[in-house]
Amino acid sequence: MMLLTKKMIEIRSLLQTVGQAEHLTLPSIVVVGSQSSGKSSVLEAIVGHEFLPKGSNMVTRRPIELTLVNTPEAHAEYGEFPALGLGKITDFSQIQRTLTDLNLAVPETDCVSDDPIQLRIYSPNVPDLSLIDLPGYIQVSGFDQPTELKEKIAALCDKYIQAPNVILAISAADVDLANSTSLRASRRVDPRGERTIGVITKMDLVDPIRGAAILNDENYPLRLGYVGVVCRIPEQSKSLFSRGSANITSAITRNESTYFNSHPDTFGPETEVTVGTPNLRKKLMHVLETTMSASLAQTAEAIHHELAEATYEFKVQYNERPLSAESYLAESLDHFKHSFKTFSDSFGRPEIREILKHELDQQVLNLLAQRYWNRPIEDLSHVEGQGIMESLADLPKSDPNDQLWQLKLDASTASLTKLGIGRLATTVVAESVAAHVERLIGNSTFNAHPFARTIINSATSGILSDLSYDTSDELEICVKPYKYRIDLEDYEWSRGRDNIGKVLKEELKDCEGALKSVEAEMGGKKKLKDVMSFIDRVKKGDVVLEGNAGGGAGGFSAALLARGRDAVFLRDRADIIRMRLMAVNSKQCKSKKNKYYCPEVFLDAVADKLTTTADLFLDAELLSKFYYQFPRTLDQKFRSLSTHQLEQFAREDPKIRRHLDVVRRKELLEHVLKEMEALRALEAREKRGMSQR
Ligand code: GDP
Repeated sequence: MMLLTKKMIEIRSLLQTVGQAEHLTLPSIVVVGSQSSGKSSVLEAIVGHEFLPKGSNMVTRRPIELTLVNTPEAHAEYGEFPALGLGKITDFSQIQRTLTDLNLAVPETDCVSDDPIQLRIYSPNVPDLSLIDLPGYIQVSGFDQPTELKEKIAALCDKYIQAPNVILAISAADVDLANSTSLRASRRVDPRGERTIGVITKMDLVDPIRGAAILNDENYPLRLGYVGVVCRIPEQSKSLFSRGSANITSAITRNESTYFNSHPDTFGPETEVTVGTPNLRKKLMHVLETTMSASLAQTAEAIHHELAEATYEFKVQYNERPLSAESYLAESLDHFKHSFKTFSDSFGRPEIREILKHELDQQVLNLLAQRYWNRPIEDLSHVEGQGIMESLADLPKSDPNDQLWQLKLDASTASLTKLGIGRLATTVVAESVAAHVERLIGNSTFNAHPFARTIINSATSGILSDLSYDTSDELEICVKPYKYRIDLEDYEWSRGRDNIGKVLKEELKDCEGALKSVEAEMGGKKKLKDVMSFIDRVKKGDVVLEGNAGGGAGGFSAALLARGRDAVFLRDRADIIRMRLMAVNSKQCKSKKNKYYCPEVFLDAVADKLTTTADLFLDAELLSKFYYQFPRTLDQKFRSLSTHQLEQFAREDPKIRRHLDVVRRKELLEHVLKEMEALRALEAREKRGMSQR
């Protein structure tokens, strides 16, 4: 018989993990009683340890689903909170602290919570039992207790004492039974007293004759009867147990039997009454087993029903596609690696070249702006007062052997070659690769998984930063010759000329666009023109800039003047670029002989040479190596995830979470059904065995 209860309790625990659905459980014993009726003392006497929260203000605020598991072969006694994953707790005072913390975590405003705490206790000294400890009924709400506490506790208890649960109604012997809240509550839901066990505590506090009369109570007859107990831990033993590890059962039963044995006429074996904790345990085991057995068929039916629903959902919603956290990860990773492969096939030397050239074009524009375009009027033979066209006409007249021109171009070229191309090129390519990976994540299932995103990004940045370190140094060495001498072929010159023409056109478009948006921000051409001509006059010295209180001048606000200055800058820059575009396109710039007059073309050709060296090198040293290492690192990182992390990863996506839940629910229900069939076979065998005996 013992095995049967154990199995049923196991099934009950399994069903707890399935969750929800009210009928999807096996009955348990629900413990109710008023505060101070001795409810905790009874439970602790059964468990053999003090483990329940104590203290005058300490009200149990959450139900405790207590599963006792008898482990006859073991010596150790320990508890487990399956939902918390704290492992085995052998120190019962630690269990007590954890329960206290869990209770205190319920906000004061909520009073009580119906979310049960699950606690399992394994010991050779406990019977196989499933008990639910509920908050004690309170009579009057105290000053510091919210007024609705009383009703909330009663409502919570009402929820649990419904059939088919067994009610363990605790009442103290020194309180009139007619006033027992627990019995009154049980009477409401179990009027014929068919599933209530009455426990009368503190039997030592009343006269034995009166005590016995309570146990034979006729006003509240209970089919499962009353049991009288004395569950107080004897004072002299208390200090012994203060460390929370010693078992208190024998001290309690000794104390208890001393009391009952001293009144053999009233409580002895010859009498009608049932007393003592050991008898209570026996009764509980017996009643639980019969109640659970009686519910098996109904529970099995409920499970079948649930299973049918889960199977239907699995079929209709998920097309019977099996799924586990592992399979989901494997599939997602395969897809991702596939998309990465497609990307790597399409991202090679030409793509690097484009990125690098664009970057260097910008550097060339900056250098030109710094060294030539800031004072183009003198430097590029543009005589003040002449138009752009006249200044161009002046160009060829300049002396190509002029030292100033040579110095200027040499300095610009040196700035470009000594820019730190190694670092710059490696960085922009690495950044671009990282951005592409980020885009691939965005288009993959991993997009809904921050956890996976972090893993992938850390793999990307880890590999890239390792590779970049050496690559940038080595690339710098490769471009070193250019720092001393640059020879250009004719075709390189003309390619440079074509390219810089395009770059300048782009830049011109950008300038004009920016000027247009300043104009729009200022609210029109007219206003912009006014501000700009004011600033021009100030520059020429025609007007003196006299500030007003707000930092403005000439009737314009400070903000307007700032915009105006931006606009003047953009206009001047656009003028220069227009002029330089004409220069680049002019006959003079067709030949590399005129490089000193055509710095744009020369610098562009140099940038092109640098790019050619860098793209070859980066393709071999950075890209190829990254393409090799990246998928392998991902495999390694994802394979080393723990089961818990895998689960956490897969459940990040709500769609996958639902799918996994349905699959898991279905599997669990199938498993429980199988267990139930085995249980029924066991039950039938035991019955046959008993009838043969
Ligand atoms: P709860 O509030 O219902 O959980 O009650 P407790 O188990 O904390 O008991 C309340 C008080 O009654 C405690 O001081 C216990 O020591 C005491 N008590 C419990 N059972 C007995 C008993 O059988 N006899 C005596 N004399 N005192 C008891």
